[in-house]
Amino acid sequence: MNKLGNLVRNEWITGDGDGQFLYNAVTGEPVAAATTNGLDFKAMVDYAHSVGNPNLRRLTFHERGRMLRALALYLRNHLDTFYALSYKTGATKADSWIDIEGGIGNLFAYASLRRKFPDETFAVDGEGISLSKQNTFMGHHMLVPKEGVAIHINAFNFPVWGMLEKCAVNWLAGVPAIVKPATVTSYLTEAVVKAIIASGILPKGALQLICGSVGDLLDHVTAQDVITFTGSKSTALQLKKHDRILQESVPFNMEADSLNCIVLGDDVSPADAEWDIFIKEIRKEMTVKAGQKCTAIRRIFVPENKMEDVWKALSKSLSQTVIGNPLNDKVRMGALAGQSQRNEVKQQVQKLLASTQIVYGALDSVEVMDADANKGAFISPILLLNEKPFTSTAVHEVEAFGPVSTIMPYTNMEEAIALSKLGKGSLCSSIVTANDRIAKQYVLGAGTHHGRILILNKACAKESTGHGSPLPMLVHGGPGRAGGGEEMGGIRGVQHYMQRVAIQGSPTSITNITNVYQQYAKGIENAIHPFKKYFEELQIGEQIITSKRIITSEDIDKFADISGDHFYAHLTHTDFTGTMFEQQVAHGYFIMSIAAGLFVYSYEKNPVLLNYGIDELRFTKPVYPGTEIYVRFTCKEKIPQEQREPTDLPRGIAKWLVEILDDSNEQVGIATILTMVAKKPGHN
Ligand code: NDP
Repeated sequence: MNKLGNLVRNEWITGDGDGQFLYNAVTGEPVAAATTNGLDFKAMVDYAHSVGNPNLRRLTFHERGRMLRALALYLRNHLDTFYALSYKTGATKADSWIDIEGGIGNLFAYASLRRKFPDETFAVDGEGISLSKQNTFMGHHMLVPKEGVAIHINAFNFPVWGMLEKCAVNWLAGVPAIVKPATVTSYLTEAVVKAIIASGILPKGALQLICGSVGDLLDHVTAQDVITFTGSKSTALQLKKHDRILQESVPFNMEADSLNCIVLGDDVSPADAEWDIFIKEIRKEMTVKAGQKCTAIRRIFVPENKMEDVWKALSKSLSQTVIGNPLNDKVRMGALAGQSQRNEVKQQVQKLLASTQIVYGALDSVEVMDADANKGAFISPILLLNEKPFTSTAVHEVEAFGPVSTIMPYTNMEEAIALSKLGKGSLCSSIVTANDRIAKQYVLGAGTHHGRILILNKACAKESTGHGSPLPMLVHGGPGRAGGGEEMGGIRGVQHYMQRVAIQGSPTSITNITNVYQQYAKGIENAIHPFKKYFEELQIGEQIITSKRIITSEDIDKFADISGDHFYAHLTHTDFTGTMFEQQVAHGYFIMSIAAGLFVYSYEKNPVLLNYGIDELRFTKPVYPGTEIYVRFTCKEKIPQEQREPTDLPRGIAKWLVEILDDSNEQVGIATILTMVAKKPGHN
């Protein structure tokens, strides 16, 4: 028997004893055995703290991001191995694609997210905050990687995605992981971890793996660690109240049972495109992964006069789903992950049957292709009907983790919203409607109880990623029953693994610490114009004060003619009573253009390749004819750029603070502009 390896302190170790046997979900044959007996869990936590964490936190966001990308590319070369094992979990090719390539996709997405972070080991969060009248004292926020480890306790349904969607985030943040997949499908996770380690791309200690029980692991966690849990509410609660977790205030991110729903807007009739979209979405959600998805649609709310049409259309659609051996190309729905999962689904359906009736499918019979319905963990899709959703609690509380969903009527949108909330918090919900007024009412009414809401209609259906797909850049998680956690969500997710620290001090100190120039910090004067410098030579805080220029009425008239902007405030003959201005005022864009004329180093070729744009631009005081303006121009931030093509010029983006001042030294405008600057020849 293939005994699964546990990755402990960068060594593959098989636990003591025979372990738990894991079975092929389709044939019932044993695949592997898993045990963690004899493992030193404390040593795993210590190793993550003392080796994995320092190895990752010393890398910059950009280095970590490139590491994720390299890993994703590497894993893509081993897809055949992963797919072959995935079929044994009962997953079809399409299901496996979601798990395997969806997981790898997460690595790519978080790799790209590096560009939203500085090329530093830390990040600056939000804007600086002025805290004094004389501008000598200010506040800011910084994010530094936690010094702990992310412990991911995962569910059986996504052995690959479940690991990678979480690890991509903690690795980008600079924190290592200990992954504990659900034992029943852990042989697939083990294969992926073996490939990850063989790649040599991650630094030592960035990843450890437990295939089987977690032993006393949680007795050793600290406040610097983060635990994420995906699975049943009962296990989640048991773990969440672990003494050590409570005493050390260890963050515990929980994603548990969720009774997700879909609503058919009452504007939709069988003749509409949205009708077919609705039916198709439900069938997909019921049958993909044989309904073993935390986001699957469990409750279907339909206007009461359309109930019969909907369940008939759905039944017809479900009857076209070929169930059986995932290795057969015709099969669209595979098996559940194992016999115990099948028994569990049947028990849950029995509970639901006290208040529902089956309108499609059967509990004890299923027609399968190319497989034995008894040896494999097969079950038919089951569509249930409940006529009185306000007086039945089970339909909103019992999650049958398989291809099971209940259709229920509503009479108006208030009722649909109220019914959606009876799930007491879900991961996601969809509304199918072509009417955005209905959609808005639903989003504003039901938003409190859902982590994500999809508005589906023919305008987006073709490209929609679907009800059930959590996306790397969007928050995944939901309130209440869904656990109250949040995963992914782009930058939001990364912040879960970083400590946000408020810092206070002089603008100069904050500049020196953050490496981002803060307004009113001491500038660095330099005789050489900064546009004459290569990217590497630029210093944060490097500053020039430009010469001055008088703004005349003729200038303003000319700019109005050239730009075509003859807004009344820029015209001499306007009667200014009742306006914001006393007399003809210069265009803000004219002032900005004049500012550029003052700070740009003109005529000679220099390392500035191009003007990249403006991040922020504010006009803070009117400029009237006769005003003399000048600019304080300061290097604010440097962002290196990677070469995409070998022919690309090595370069970076420089951000500049442009403070435009008048003859009384008052600010009339402020901007952050960006230039693309070449690196020194021979550098990249
Ligand atoms: P469990 O809660 O039993 O298991 C989830 C994870 O927790 C597994 O890795 C499991 O490991 C681990 N675990 C169980 N007991 C402990 C413990 N005492 N200490 C540490 N870890 C523990 O959920 P299942 O995966 O069996 O799924 C059961 C139900 O959960 C489903 O039927 C469904 O209702 C719900 N579920 C919800 C999901 C969601 O995302 N919302 C996803 C999957 C399931 P091991 O496998 O070794 O027991």
